[in-house]
Amino acid sequence: MPSPLTYHLIVLGCQLNHSDAERLATLLEKIGYKKTNDPYQADLIGVISCAVRQSAMDRIYAQAHKWNLLKEKHPLITLLTGCVLKSDKAKLKYKFDILLDMKDIQTLPKLLTARHAQISDFIPSPSYLSITPTYESHFKAYVPIMTGCNKFCTYCAVPYTRGPEVSRPAEEIYQEIKNLLAQGYKEIMLLGQNVNSYGQDVKDTRSPNYRQTLPTFAELLHEINSWPGDFWLRFTTSHPYDMSDELITVMAEGNHLVEYLNLPVQSGHNEILKKMNRHYTVEHYCERLAKIRKLIPQISLSTDIIVGFGNETDEQFQATADLMKKIGYDMAYISQYSPRPGTSAARVYPDNISKKVKTEREKILTEILKESAWRYNQKFLRKKSRVLIDGIHKDKLFGKNREFKTIKINSTNQDLIGHFAQVKVTTAHPWGLEGEISNDD
Ligand code: SAH
Ligand code: SF4
Repeated sequence: MPSPLTYHLIVLGCQLNHSDAERLATLLEKIGYKKTNDPYQADLIGVISCAVRQSAMDRIYAQAHKWNLLKEKHPLITLLTGCVLKSDKAKLKYKFDILLDMKDIQTLPKLLTARHAQISDFIPSPSYLSITPTYESHFKAYVPIMTGCNKFCTYCAVPYTRGPEVSRPAEEIYQEIKNLLAQGYKEIMLLGQNVNSYGQDVKDTRSPNYRQTLPTFAELLHEINSWPGDFWLRFTTSHPYDMSDELITVMAEGNHLVEYLNLPVQSGHNEILKKMNRHYTVEHYCERLAKIRKLIPQISLSTDIIVGFGNETDEQFQATADLMKKIGYDMAYISQYSPRPGTSAARVYPDNISKKVKTEREKILTEILKESAWRYNQKFLRKKSRVLIDGIHKDKLFGKNREFKTIKINSTNQDLIGHFAQVKVTTAHPWGLEGEISNDD
């Protein structure tokens, strides 16, 4: 018997890409490939790429060159999928054997059968989101509820690489989650570039869901939240424009729904928000947060911010710093603006803030965050926190609580991995907590 063909996947970027990789893994395993952690041994190397940051693309260029040299030693197929800009596709098509949009990934078995006789026949489901994923974890699962984005923020590549919003049928989402819960999964994270607009594509003539009946995101959450069982329900990412009262009310139900929200603000200045085409003002954003905090006082809030957008003045940056201080985030993902070819910001606004200034601005915001996150984390001190134990590192267990805070735990009991445990918090740092197992949950 010849040894089975092997595949190695490299995933860049956000959780949606990780989730897509789990579906791609299923396809490859169905046709006879086995996973390997060593790219140099693999018969197929697949990259699930990210177009949000230039550095990710630069790494791919460098690696693709090395892989092509490997082909002299053994037959190797390279595949590029995920978020790839049109301009990068043109450059990379000579470096990769197969270039496929994720939405067309079901055609991969056919393309591979043509190259490898030993591959078994397999006819995948018509929509790639219907493929059952090979989940990376046995207790936490990403469940995409939609693909694409219609927002067209001027700096962002996603609407071009992923296309328009298409919601997954609610029944398919419910079935996937029910299967996971039946297997004992403890955490479900619903994914989409803008989950709040789930179901809105019933009004979009481009969508296969045009004029169908779909629930709103709030209704979808409410339904899943009403199910029995011991599990946590998270979602990401939300857009402030679509953060409806209905959704906030459902979030306040608690139960499976955790006390954590990522609500990207991107900038604290209205003029920049307008140039970014974000569809809301700082005032609207603050009003939404006030409502959220009123109904869910213990909520942990995180955000995304871009520093050094074209022509961002010191005063405009200062408005972002002031907003961060005013809100007191518990976490923030701060990026330096990088123009993405093909986006309207790259065409219209100069990338004229120097790397040095962008780095300084990022550092200032990180310091503000450090202070507010530390203050928030103090609230957990000497209290018990329910934690989903993720793994072990350097003789300490670690996991996250409902508020998405990482806790390092003074225990080596690996039986707890994948389970909830009560942890007494003994130390609070800006970027995490430390504690001890209080008793089994
Ligand atoms: N759909 C999500 C996130 C998309 S990309 C949302 O709307 O928030 C994740 C984050 O990357 C964005 O929130 C933004 O802060 C950052 N980002 C996207 N494009 C960028 C660019 N061209 N330069 C710098 N940061 C960018
Ligand atoms: Fe990009 Fe804006 Fe869509 Fe988020 S909402 S994916 S930032 S276009």
